[in-house]
Amino acid sequence: MTKIGRYFKVKLSKLRRFVLLGIIILFLLQFFGVKALVGGLTGSVAVWFVKLIDVFAYFESLIASKDFTMTAFWAVLPAIALYLIFGRAFCGWVCPMDFLYEIVNRIKDKRQGSGVGSQKKTIADKISPKIGYVVAMLLIVISALISIPFFTNYISHLTNFFRTLTGGVFLALDLPVEPVVVVYSLSVITALLVLEYIYPRLWCRALCPVGKTYGLFNKVSLLKLKFVEGECGECNLCEQMCYMNVKIARNIDRPGLRDTNCIYCGRCVEGCETKGKLIKLSLKRVKEL
Ligand code: SF4
Ligand code: SF4
Repeated sequence: MTKIGRYFKVKLSKLRRFVLLGIIILFLLQFFGVKALVGGLTGSVAVWFVKLIDVFAYFESLIASKDFTMTAFWAVLPAIALYLIFGRAFCGWVCPMDFLYEIVNRIKDKRQGSGVGSQKKTIADKISPKIGYVVAMLLIVISALISIPFFTNYISHLTNFFRTLTGGVFLALDLPVEPVVVVYSLSVITALLVLEYIYPRLWCRALCPVGKTYGLFNKVSLLKLKFVEGECGECNLCEQMCYMNVKIARNIDRPGLRDTNCIYCGRCVEGCETKGKLIKLSLKRVKEL
């Protein structure tokens, strides 16, 4: 249990799921007249007046529309501020795909009889995570050419997850839905889940432009992995628990680590035999990093 986990008297893994569930519930409340979080994870209005837009969606829309507006600019600033503090924690704490992928991997582990967290070498380990920047640039070029934010409008897991969720709520409330939109969005999410089953975390580690953009913030964010000297038993459990293939063990002698693929999920913290004494999620300044 980490410091944050101890404070809330819950394990970090449970705390992350409470956060995700809480955010989804806040979004769902908009359909019942409570406007605490309106929109979706790509763009929203939070706490009744703070406009937020995802950083990649902002750049893609800006390039597609070729139209700079102060409204969108003011909406991306709070998002940038959040990522300067929390880095890529969005992926581990807020993105619904991390949760869905965890379920897919549990099912797969059960079927194959291997333990949860036993990450076998997959194609995702062989592909350089840097390929994601090429993918992101390609998507930006396509958006510029067709003048539509291509990823955000058609491929984004965030957009399609919320379209599916909204479709489900509308169906439940007997409100009119666009079946084609819902079926399309559901198909995209299903395709991503199938991809996860075949190539675990290929999407998150190497391809997702949203995660790749957030990963850049890891280099400067306040949140980071901090290592405490002298307690490592070299069991390598931390790396076995890490879905994102972050090389923790070989860096354990350093004061900490800023890896663009770290999603600050804390699986390594909980997996480590010292249970949070050696590896910590830290918001404090570490000079040498
Ligand atoms: S990399 Fe993309 S899909 Fe994966 S958790 Fe981050 S935002 Fe979600
Ligand atoms: S290094 Fe730790 S906190 Fe970062 S992604 Fe891997 S398991 Fe999660």
